[in-house]
Amino acid sequence: MNDTVLIVGAGPTGLSAAAGIASVGRKVALIEKENVLGGAPILSRYAKLVPSGEWAKDALGRMVKRVTDNPLVTVHKGTRVARLDGEFGGFTATLADGQSINAGAVILGTGFTHFDSINKPEWGFGTYEDVVTTTQVEQMVGAGKIACPSDGRVPQRVCILLCVGSRDRQIGREWCSKICCTVSCNLAMEIKELSPKTDVYIYYMDIRTFGLYEDKYYWRSQEEFHIKYVKARIAEVTQGPDQRLLVKAEDTLVKRPIVIPFDLVVHAIGMDPNLDNPEIAKVFGVGLEKHGFIDRGEHYTSSFASTRRGIYVGGSALGPEDIDTCVSHGLAMAMRAVGDLSAVAQKAA
Ligand SMILES: Cc1cc2nc3c(=O)[nH]c(=O)nc-3n(C[C@H](O)[C@H](O)[C@H](O)COP(=O)(O)OP(=O)(O)OC[C@H]3O[C@@H](n4cnc5c(N)ncnc54)[C@H](O)[C@@H]3O)c2cc1C
Ligand code: SF4
Repeated sequence: MNDTVLIVGAGPTGLSAAAGIASVGRKVALIEKENVLGGAPILSRYAKLVPSGEWAKDALGRMVKRVTDNPLVTVHKGTRVARLDGEFGGFTATLADGQSINAGAVILGTGFTHFDSINKPEWGFGTYEDVVTTTQVEQMVGAGKIACPSDGRVPQRVCILLCVGSRDRQIGREWCSKICCTVSCNLAMEIKELSPKTDVYIYYMDIRTFGLYEDKYYWRSQEEFHIKYVKARIAEVTQGPDQRLLVKAEDTLVKRPIVIPFDLVVHAIGMDPNLDNPEIAKVFGVGLEKHGFIDRGEHYTSSFASTRRGIYVGGSALGPEDIDTCVSHGLAMAMRAVGDLSAVAQKAA
């Protein structure tokens, strides 16, 4: 029996799992398809994370260093698993670059894909330069300046549209992405910090700043930063004769149509299943749930099991999750993989 654990994906989930396994003296082979480790917060250049307030590059940088400094972890960047043979206790993975790795168990931390706003064309993304996404605004915050892409001016009025690519049955995305309300309240405050004269509006269906995020983000953004919340059903984003963007919506509290001009419109994009999931399902022989995220085997006595024995799955590969939860999933999967491999080894002895 081989007690190396193969981990696929080096985002918060995979990095946490790798650190957990190495901490009990077991070997890890970590496979990442990109040439950079750290997952979405690094690849999409997030600014300060909620709820810690720490810069993403520092937080994920620490997680990456903890893993790359550990001699028990071998990192394979810029490649994927092309084929997996064998079974629990004795898998052999063949990588796209031809290398072969033997491992007893597999952990999938393959994460999610950001919703592509092009799939919501009536809300202006791809048509108007000044319609952007939350990840683009994260990058502006990281660079220290909020500006309209069309001409570089500082916007007088910004509007953040929530639930773009989430809770939208028309485009087959029924799920709530969990984190985008909180991220948007935080971004709205960061915009005000960088540009105090800019007015920031948030258009929402419901506000889901879950758990402890309510007062820190939702209430604080209104009471200290005067962010304006509009409960609305958005119809479309167009452009007026003065080139400003017009957000047309129905104010669902007073039940009246409203049209307000903005300089910058921000889509709070949701978390889609990883576009690679059909391929991952084929290579690893695991099932997908109805939306396209990776499916769980059983919830309570075999947590983080996929539908195939010896392959565990956690973090945002299972559905939208925040980083704290992904880190916990990673550790829990490390515990499961090491525990299950030890049990088999003891039985065989
Ligand atoms: C706009 C936005 C802002 C956010 N801000 C915050 C925040 O402030 N705080 C917070 O807690 N959460 C935030 N989140 C959520 C956060 O991004 C996720 O919780 C986190 O990135 C999930 O980690 P993960 O490791 O599961 O997946 P990912 O971060 O997606 O990492 C998966 C890794 O696996 C790799 N991979 C994928 N497929 C393969 C494959 N086939 N082979 C090999 N490698 C593969 C990817 O390249 C990636 O490196 C935000 C989300 C969005 C959309
Ligand atoms: S967290 Fe908020 S913005 Fe994101 S999908 Fe859920 S309700 Fe919509």
